[in-house]
Amino acid sequence: MEDLIWYLLLVLSLFAGFSWYVAGEKGRDQNSWLILGALFGPLALFAVGVIPAIPTVSPGKTRECPTCGEVIKIQAQACKHCCRDVEPLEEGAV
Ligand SMILES: [Zn+2]
Repeated sequence: MEDLIWYLLLVLSLFAGFSWYVAGEKGRDQNSWLILGALFGPLALFAVGVIPAIPTVSPGKTRECPTCGEVIKIQAQACKHCCRDVEPLEEGAV
């Protein structure tokens, strides 16, 4: 019986960890999802998996670098993250 409790704790902490990680990837509040993952296990992991990520690209002002995927300005001629040349676009073109 005691083994079963430890097994459950292990599984729930795994789900808590995965929920925490996915929440971070999506720009969500990691601490909340850590607790939800510990309480609800696979349900929380599923929920954080299906909620949309908080968009970090503001339309009309920024875009993603085609090389590294980081957010850069529309008018940038080179990516500030990976230093690759990118085609400058006019503001509002995207
Ligand atoms: Zn880049």
